[in-house]
Amino acid sequence: MIEIGLTGGIGSGKSTVAMMLADRGAVVLDSDAVVRELQAPGTAVFGAIVAQWGERVVADDGSLNRGELASIVFDDPAELKLLNAIVHPAHAIEMERRRSAYEGTDTILVFDIPLLVEVGRGGFDGVIVVDLDPEQAVLRLVADRGLDEADARRRMANQASREERLEKADFVLNNGGTEADLSAEVGRCWEWIGSLGDR
Ligand code: ADP
Repeated sequence: MIEIGLTGGIGSGKSTVAMMLADRGAVVLDSDAVVRELQAPGTAVFGAIVAQWGERVVADDGSLNRGELASIVFDDPAELKLLNAIVHPAHAIEMERRRSAYEGTDTILVFDIPLLVEVGRGGFDGVIVVDLDPEQAVLRLVADRGLDEADARRRMANQASREERLEKADFVLNNGGTEADLSAEVGRCWEWIGSLGDR
């Protein structure tokens, strides 16, 4: 098993790279998707969140109102700490459960973790950072994902800087070109990942 951390700022193209790596045969563990699963209605984590913040964090369809929760914790470190204390332990256990299923195999396991640098998660054979000029990322988020520009900038300001992220990179994937350029970069990256297994 080769364990790779994959990260990048919002709008950098990290999800696109994760898909390209999966196409080449990697198994991708999507950290955010695991969080969403753990927060599904009826789970212990969902129950603890509702116990903490009440019905205002429950949407009309009974699922978690993520937007409301995000606005509660966004610039309130104390509230964020409370949320992390609820989510992180269950998340760590679930990620480890999924990881351990590949122990002893030659799987290339890619951990897609948006906040890898912020949370300081280590222990990987290598870390890939998808790099993009933040101004270009804002343009893509607004044009392709329909985000409000101010919202995109606010989210970015809440993440590690481009420089902080690059410092943690063992492999930098530049996404300033076309998607075809990115695919070629992912090809180089795939060879690099393979070389890690020879060490
Ligand atoms: P992230 O997961 O880092 O937030 P995404 O992979 O969702 O970023 O990419 C953000 C947006 O930019 C998506 O709509 C994606 O399709 C688009 N995108 C990614 N790479 C490129 C590229 N090289 N050229 C143009 N658009 C791109």
